[in-house]
Amino acid sequence: MHVWKFGGTSVGKPDRMQSIRNLVTAAADRKIVVLSALSGTTNSLLAIGEQLKVNNTIEATQLIDTLYHHYQAFINELYKTPGGLSLGQEIIDKEFSFIRSLAGISPFTLKQEKELVAEGEILSTQMFTAYLEECGDSVVLIPALDYMSIDADNEPEFIAIEEKLTQLLVPQAEKQIIVTQGFICRNPRGEIDNLKRGGSDYTASLIGGAVKAEEIQIWTDIDGMHNNDPRIVKRTFPVRELTFEEAAELAYFGAKILHPSTITPAKMRGVPVRLKNTMEPAAPGTVITASQSVNAEIKAIAAKDNITAIYIHSTRMLNAYGFLRKVFDVFEKFKTPVDMITTSEVSVAVTIDNSEHLESITKMLSQFADLEEHDRNQTIICIVGNFLADKSGIALRIMKALKNVPLRMISYGASEHNISILVDSKHKNEALEALNESLFDFDNK
Ligand code: ADP
Ligand code: ASP
Ligand code: MG
Repeated sequence: MHVWKFGGTSVGKPDRMQSIRNLVTAAADRKIVVLSALSGTTNSLLAIGEQLKVNNTIEATQLIDTLYHHYQAFINELYKTPGGLSLGQEIIDKEFSFIRSLAGISPFTLKQEKELVAEGEILSTQMFTAYLEECGDSVVLIPALDYMSIDADNEPEFIAIEEKLTQLLVPQAEKQIIVTQGFICRNPRGEIDNLKRGGSDYTASLIGGAVKAEEIQIWTDIDGMHNNDPRIVKRTFPVRELTFEEAAELAYFGAKILHPSTITPAKMRGVPVRLKNTMEPAAPGTVITASQSVNAEIKAIAAKDNITAIYIHSTRMLNAYGFLRKVFDVFEKFKTPVDMITTSEVSVAVTIDNSEHLESITKMLSQFADLEEHDRNQTIICIVGNFLADKSGIALRIMKALKNVPLRMISYGASEHNISILVDSKHKNEALEALNESLFDFDNK
């Protein structure tokens, strides 16, 4: 079994949906096809939700009408037969009547917002399945809401997902293509929920791990993981091979091509992940496996924004063992992960990307420590590669490249494949560009 995931741009236009049908039906292997919402839809649904939260029903209805017209035009072009079109019409009419019914609920709560935002993937998968049926393909839709679940900490329930999905697949043994929704799931209350923005990648990996797929392919709009963020840096190139660890670091530290948690289930089950370009299917993309990279080289750079740095000083000057434990107990209590940490004799600096509980965290820390004013709007720049063989010299190359950028924190040595640097976000672009020009050999690309 193969698992192929197509992102928003890959399904965002009728001819693209037709192209991905050609891709998935070309090879003989059975496939689970995970789809995102059509590009722009999740943002539109969230915008509708924002209006409904503040009771702007008229504005929300206008946005719903615009979105409906987009879907009407889409299905008019997608389907080639009257039968196909009437199936497509039924799908969009049914889902939009549900969306309109949500718009009538007051107060509009988080529960309704999650039901609303799930409609993007519910629409795209039904439309795609109906298109494959119109083409006479062997296809079935298995709803993600029947097997994809998260626990009270919003973590996927891997074992339960595996069991449920395996059972659901048994009666579908004859089907060549199984379509399912990315992103959406159920929470412990049985309500509709999701795996956070970009979560369809995570769905694909959870499924790939659960069915022990031969390969998970993430199809998007670029030819694999690039050495740096192509939205910011001028000269980037695709990295052909990454280890699970390297890819996980890049995804966690901001490479948007992958949801931050994508690699975990694939790595757990040893399933290779391949990143492919829908616009250029013949391009090799990037393959991510367990094999250790032999090259002593810097592979890629990623950057994660919206970081807050907290500076904590022990009030007991000496022998303050136990201080770090007390500090981390506070972050644990508020379920807030710490990304970077640096220490001196009596001080600790940590970074967090979720500042939801910042006020409570600082209040509790203040009970046993002195806090400096924290810094918001920071960016972690993460340099990923194999630094074992190249230990001497690598830090120097990085520091030299960043000689004009003020550095807030540096983390080096915790892993053999990650060096992290904290800078004020206003210096992010120049730092990425400077590192790019100094650390990569463009002549051999
Ligand atoms: P999809 O809708 O298919 O999930 P995304 O927009 O989530 O696609 O991810 C693909 C985008 O990620 C690319 O178009 C690119 O702009 C961005 N991106 C950011 N960092 C990287 C990187 N290091 N390598 C490749 N793409 C990256
Ligand atoms: N549609 C969702 C989003 O836009 C999930 C995804 O595309 O992966 O975030
Ligand atoms: Mg994405």
